[in-house]
This record gives sequence, structure tokens and C-alpha cells, in this order.
Amino acid sequence: MRTESCREWRESLGAYSLGHLASEDKAALEAHLEGCAGCRAEADSLDFVSRLLPHADPEHFGPAPVPPAALGERIATQIGAERRRGRQRRRLRRGLALSGASAAVAAVALAIFVLPGGSGGAPAQRVVFRSLPLGVKIAATLQPRAFGTEISMYVSGMHSGTLCHVYLREADGARFSAGTFRYRWGGNGEAVLSSALDLSQTAAISVQAGGHTFVAPVSPAGPSAASAPPPPPCSGCPRGTMAKVVRSAIDFAIEIQFLMA
Ligand SMILES: [Zn+2]
Repeated sequence: MRTESCREWRESLGAYSLGHLASEDKAALEAHLEGCAGCRAEADSLDFVSRLLPHADPEHFGPAPVPPAALGERIATQIGAERRRGRQRRRLRRGLALSGASAAVAAVALAIFVLPGGSGGAPAQRVVFRSLPLGVKIAATLQPRAFGTEISMYVSGMHSGTLCHVYLREADGARFSAGTFRYRWGGNGEAVLSSALDLSQTAAISVQAGGHTFVAPVSPAGPSAASAPPPPPCSGCPRGTMAKVVRSAIDFAIEIQFLMA
């Protein structure tokens, strides 16, 4: 049976088996071993080892085991790979968290680049109304926008206060309101309106004013398609410019994501 006192006795068993115990301690320990089978068994096993020790020849000890030469390198490689995986996982987590922000950045960048071209990519058009009453002049500049078309109206020669309704028309005659304005003497005669119809889908612009409707044709492909010679090649605007701009915007967003990671 092993007790708290056994634990204390067993601490001196090693010295006892090697014959290093003082005589008083040795007598007391032997008295305990007389009555304790557990400690006696422990003492016997230590005695066996201590009797073998004198036969151990240090000259015949084998060399201390040496780890394989590549082991350190393998461990370092493993640790490096694990660290990289950890960094990639953290980056991926941050990337996922940032993907919304990155998408927003990309959307902003794309909006900045794409908006001026509009969804139809049609160029801006200057439209001059013909067959107008004597002294009246109406002109408009149509700009493609993401929402449709922005219309700048220039009017002169009407009665001050004349209410003008402006519409954009598709080729089949469908009419999209661009809003209203009043012509005032003394003003610059310009009004900026907007319509939901894409400029690329616009066949005509009409102005209702003073009981008359004035219509001017709009070339969906722009004025150059009808009569003007093709524009000279632009060295700064090679083919695929929009694709490059989109790629740049995406690269920009990705770069920001990694800078923030
Ligand atoms: Zn004991």
C-alpha cells in the first residue's frame, strides 16, 4: 500500500540502491521496507539497475543520435508553408469582408469611366430645328447619360413666358417626356432637361410651344453616320479602350483590396 510516507521513502530509494544513504537513514528505510511490499518492489527494481551500472562502459556508448541533416530544413519549410497558408486564409477572410467594399470601389471606378459614354455609347449631338416661325430659333445638345439622355435646350425669339414641352421620340413614334421649361426674355434661353430614353434609341426631338410642335430628327448613330466623314483615328483612343478602362478599374479595385489586407 502506497501512502504519503511511502512517497517520502521512495525519494531516498535511489541513494539507498547506490549505497549512498547515511546509516541512520538506511536503517529507517530498511525498517519501512520490512513492512511495505510496494516500496520493497521499487527498491528491488532500482537495485537491479544499480548492479548493472558498474558494467556500463562509457567508451562503448554509441554516438548521441543526430537528426537527419534535412530535418531542420523540412521543419522550417513546413513552418513557412503553414505561415503562408495562415496569411492566405487571413487575406481571404479579409478579402471576403472587403469584397463588398472592393465591388463598391470597382463600381465607382466603372461609373466614372462608363457614365460619360452612356449605356448606348452614342456621341453627343447638336440638333438644330428647321422650318421655324420667323425670328424663332431652337437648338438642342443631346448628351448620352446612364439614366438616358440629357438635353440642353437653346431657345430665342418666342414670347416671354412661352411654355415649352420637350419630348424624345423613338423610331416607332413612342414619346418620352423630357420635361418642360418657360422661355423668358432676358435669360440666356437655355434649359437643361433629361429624358429616360437612351440617345442611341432616339430618332427625333420635339418641342411643343405656343400651340405648335417643332420636330428635329436625331440620328441614332450620331451625325457622322449620315453625312459627315468618319472621324479621324484618335491615337489616344485605340480600339478596345473601354475594355482597357474596365480592366484598369478592376485592377485598381484588386490593388486596393490587397493594400488594405
Ligand atoms: Zn512503503
